[in-house]
Amino acid sequence: MLDADHFRRWMTATAASVDREAERLTALDSPIGDADHGSNLRRGFRAVTAALEKEAPDTPGAVLVLAGRQLISTVGGASGPLYGTLLRRTGKALGDAAEVSEEQFTQALRTGVDAVMQLGGAAPGDKTMIDALVPAVDALDAGLGFGAAATAAEQGAEATTPLQARKGRASYLGERSIGHQDPGATSAALLVAGLAEAGA
Ligand code: ADP
Ligand code: MG
Ligand code: MG
Repeated sequence: MLDADHFRRWMTATAASVDREAERLTALDSPIGDADHGSNLRRGFRAVTAALEKEAPDTPGAVLVLAGRQLISTVGGASGPLYGTLLRRTGKALGDAAEVSEEQFTQALRTGVDAVMQLGGAAPGDKTMIDALVPAVDALDAGLGFGAAATAAEQGAEATTPLQARKGRASYLGERSIGHQDPGATSAALLVAGLAEAGA
C-alpha cells in the first residue's frame, strides 16, 4: 500500500530531478519553444516541496491536490495548468483514503492523464507530455510496476523526436518541429522516474 509519505517522496524526488535537469529541459525547449521549460518547472516544483513541508497533508490525495495547485499557481506557461491538472485530478480520484493500492493509484493516474488530454486537446502522437504519460499508465495497468513505467515514459519521450508537433508552441513550427525531442515529454519521464525512486 502507498501512504502520504510515498507521495511526498514522489514529489521531492521529482523536484530534485527537475532541479538537476532544468538546463537540459530548457535547452530542449529552445529549438521548438521559448526556452523556459526547465525554469518553469523548477519554480513550480520548488513551490510544491515548500508547500508540502509547510502544510504536511496526511493523505495521498491531499498531497497530490496540494502539489497540483502549486503548479497551477506558480508555473507560467502551458505546462503549469497541464501538470497541475494531472496531479490535482489524480489526487481527487484517490479521495481521502490514508493508503491506496498500486491498482487504485493506476486508475487515478489514468483519470488524471485523461483530464490533461481533455484540457489540452492532445492525443498520443501529438508530440507532447502525453506521449510519455500514456505509455507509463499503460505499463502500470499491465502490472509491470514503477520501474517499467519509468522506462516506458523515457522511451515515449525519446519517440517524440521524429514526430511533428500538433499541440502547444512547437506546433507553430509545423514540419520544423521534426527532429527534436519534446521538452514536456522529457519532464513527464522525470515525473514517472520520481515515482520509481519514491518506491525504492
Ligand atoms: P510554454 O510552451 O507555454 O512555454 P512550457 O515550455 O513550460 O510551456 O511547456 C511546454 C510543453 O508543454 C511542451 O513540450 C508539451 O509537452 C507540453 N504541452 C504544450 N501544449 C500542450 C497540450 N495542449 N497538451 C499537452 N501538452 C502540452
Ligand atoms: Mg516553453
Ligand atoms: Mg513559455
